[in-house]
Amino acid sequence: MFTPLIPIAIDSIYDGKPLPKRMAHCTPDMYAAIFATKADLQAQHGDLVLSDLFRSYDMQFQAHLDYTSGKKKAFSPPPGGSMHEAGRAFDLDLDKIKKLTLPKFWPLAKARGLSPIIDKPDPKLSEAWHFDCRGSHDLVYQYYAAGHGDNFKSAYTAMAASAIVSVGQKVDALGEDVRPAYIQSALIRLGQKIGDLDGSIGPQSRTGLTNLGINPALELDALVDAVGKALEKKFPQEFFIPGAVIDHGPVPAHLVS
Ligand SMILES: [Zn+2]
Repeated sequence: MFTPLIPIAIDSIYDGKPLPKRMAHCTPDMYAAIFATKADLQAQHGDLVLSDLFRSYDMQFQAHLDYTSGKKKAFSPPPGGSMHEAGRAFDLDLDKIKKLTLPKFWPLAKARGLSPIIDKPDPKLSEAWHFDCRGSHDLVYQYYAAGHGDNFKSAYTAMAASAIVSVGQKVDALGEDVRPAYIQSALIRLGQKIGDLDGSIGPQSRTGLTNLGINPALELDALVDAVGKALEKKFPQEFFIPGAVIDHGPVPAHLVS
């Protein structure tokens, strides 16, 4: 199984309405982080109001085009490099946390598992509004930062690719079939050293599977299922929200086609 993307009803900057449905999907741990952070902010006379959350491959492609053509100023990487594509990043309305101030918001966000994407809490900086819920994909960041893999331009891009394939969305550099890359992402997060996360199951990936008691000769679907179960055991908060009944709703259209 892959990491579920679940629908979320959350306030947006768009005419005071909930975030439009096409953007309103996220992982369970992000879902929990969003509502915990919203409650924290409301307790301090602020609020969490979003302008962006999930982006499909096509939405990310368009966001990147808008950036390169100068239509929008905010940097947006090509598909395959944004945590938005994994339902693990949001952009918030900075005006709504003004009273609290960004430097005071950072530790609060951190306590909820949310990381900024810039180095200092200056609301004038581009991307001051962007926060990631790295979850277990931070282990992929650390793996690349430690030099265990070197096929991505940065540890951050490797982490984003890992997070994106884990919800079943493709990353061009990792091939049309997301399953091999997802299996490798799982192996890294389960503590195996497999070299690069490159979308091709080689000897190191097979050894990693064997180390985890999984028969590497299984069909890809069975391997996806086996590593998914191991991930769910190690990172349960990424698969469901304790005590909450989630209406999983229809599977997003882009994942069915
Ligand atoms: Zn963003």
